[in-house]
Amino acid sequence: MENDLRTDESVSCLSGVGVARKALLERLSIRTVGDLLMHVPIRFLDRRSIIPIAELHSGTDAAVRGRVVSAIRRQGRRGPSLTVVLSDDTGSITLTFFRSGFPGSKLRPGMDIVACGIIESFRGYTIVHPEIYFSEEATGAANAPGMLPIYGLTAGLTQRAMRKLVVYALDAVKSSLMDILPCGVIAAAGFSGRWDVFRAVHMPDSPEESKSARDLLALEELFLYRSVLAAVREKSAKESGIPLVSISLKEFESSLPWSLTSAQKRVCLEVCKDMARNSPMRRLVQGDVGSGKTVVAAFACVVTALAGKTAAVLAPTEVLAAQHSTSMREFCGRFDLEVHLLTGGTPGSERNRIAERLLEKPQSILIGTHAILEDWIPLNSLALLVIDEQHRFGVAQREKLFVFSNPRPHALVMSATPIPRTLAMTVYGDLDLSVINEMPPDRGHTETRVINVSEKKAVFRFMMERLREGERIFLVYPLKKASEKSDLRDAETAYETVRSGPMAEFGTGLLHGSMSPAEKVAVTLKFSRGDIAILISTTVIEVGIDVPDATVMVIANAERFGLSQLHQLRGRVGRGGKSAWCFLVPGEGASHVSLKRLHLLASTSDGFIISEKDLSIRGPGQVLGTAQHGIPKFKVADMSTDGHLLRVVSDMSPIPLHEIHQLLRSQMWRYNDVELPGV
Ligand code: ADP
Ligand code: MG
Repeated sequence: MENDLRTDESVSCLSGVGVARKALLERLSIRTVGDLLMHVPIRFLDRRSIIPIAELHSGTDAAVRGRVVSAIRRQGRRGPSLTVVLSDDTGSITLTFFRSGFPGSKLRPGMDIVACGIIESFRGYTIVHPEIYFSEEATGAANAPGMLPIYGLTAGLTQRAMRKLVVYALDAVKSSLMDILPCGVIAAAGFSGRWDVFRAVHMPDSPEESKSARDLLALEELFLYRSVLAAVREKSAKESGIPLVSISLKEFESSLPWSLTSAQKRVCLEVCKDMARNSPMRRLVQGDVGSGKTVVAAFACVVTALAGKTAAVLAPTEVLAAQHSTSMREFCGRFDLEVHLLTGGTPGSERNRIAERLLEKPQSILIGTHAILEDWIPLNSLALLVIDEQHRFGVAQREKLFVFSNPRPHALVMSATPIPRTLAMTVYGDLDLSVINEMPPDRGHTETRVINVSEKKAVFRFMMERLREGERIFLVYPLKKASEKSDLRDAETAYETVRSGPMAEFGTGLLHGSMSPAEKVAVTLKFSRGDIAILISTTVIEVGIDVPDATVMVIANAERFGLSQLHQLRGRVGRGGKSAWCFLVPGEGASHVSLKRLHLLASTSDGFIISEKDLSIRGPGQVLGTAQHGIPKFKVADMSTDGHLLRVVSDMSPIPLHEIHQLLRSQMWRYNDVELPGV
């Protein structure tokens, strides 16, 4: 038997794993010994005690031990069956098998076995298709099988085979396991070391032990990932960058139509300080929708361009890119700087013109979608890259963007998703964090209400009033199309209804994710110009639309959305300083708990309070949104339930840079196809 295997070695080093079995394991994404050890049981059968047959109860899941008295085959109407009578000192029970083959076929009168399964009442007690343990296998003091792991399997693998493999793997790594979590943390949870944790995950003494071992493995994953992010940040701080010093914040502010909030000032100064350094900035600016992040980006761009370099702003959609270019032109108007807009839809001649202009005059601002990163765009003077929200890049993708030129440009990431600090460390731990925790003054207040059936008419009348005042309305639906499988409401049906009703005269548009970028831009433009006053959409509007005259948002089946997502959505109204209203309309089947969540949303407008709540109610996955958020899929840690572990991890000091290098190399198997940046 192989000994001394490392966790990053292939499963084929284990005895019992040939080509065929290796392929089966591969289907479960198990390639290495470590993968196998991290393949934690889905649940356990508690077989710690043997129940005397006389004390069995129908419907319970039990283990009995006894001697086989008889084994009788029958040919029934539905095929062959086997009935085995098993007796202990207290009574007898039958075991029923409806298919031939193992393990029934092995049973002979006189054998001592342990049989496990659900006790059913049928002419006395019986267990249908019990799990069978022959006496030499039935381990434990009382000869009971103990806590039996049940693994996720694939056709061709059995529980029995999987259990054996895990036991081999545990044996094989016993002397080679490298510690990852600080030993104090492991000891505090009651384990003697990392091996003991793996042992307890697969062969626990009790359900409680299996749970704390599993949590410790999840913690280890999160801790390692957090340490990688910290190392990326530390390493990048050591690289040389492009120090940029030009205009002061005061001068910049004096060119604006209003004064900056103190939060905006603080963040601008942080950015300014970063950019003046001889190492590349890596900063995340977080601020609620409407908190005024754009002007911070504009300041960084102006500083860059006035210092003679190129600033680029990467927006996630054409709509947002176009909107950014409008506001940038506004903010940069006084500085005689060129602002170029380049998206996938920009015609070739215009692209060529932009490329030529950039060569001639690199001290400009380039705004666009991913098109701006194509090779033929001359970005030799790039010194600042702003990435606007919603990309949900993972750390590896971020790294790729940031290092694409040498020296590295300064990087500024803007996010409108308020993320609690604990979670931000896991998602954005490679970035320094700035928070704009203040709204510009004279913001209209957005009143949020949860609407019940009897209030629907009043809401409708209210919307008609707003429309007559020249204001605009968003109607948001969870689905694009009606679906037979779901009773959720959909945008297309609503569009048809509104178009044939009394609101039609104000003009209606439809917006959803499967429209082409050009169609989306067109309908968004119509809405922001006021050609149409009602925009019916799915959640695509989440992505940063700015329409100052929009004052009402109605969200159907609001219970289906995460709190943070609803908060983002309602941030789209009331941006023009007028009062605004957000009506949350729950579906008929909405649960008591989900209604409570909606009322919480109605009671506060602080995005950070909401995301903390979302984190504790629905878990990290929900706070980040259902869209891809760039975190690798962990093997054990679960982003929908392990919020409490994030809190623990955020209080631990990450593994230092000089240690993580080697550790990472031996732990790369954890990340499957997800690339982590080299540190
Ligand atoms: P977001 O953080 O959602 O990107 P924006 O940058 O789009 O927010 O700003 C929202 C609106 O607030 C814009 O119309 C912007 O011009 C305005 N704004 C930003 N900062 C201020 C300020 N300090 N005073 C007044 N209005 C501001
Ligand atoms: Mg914005």
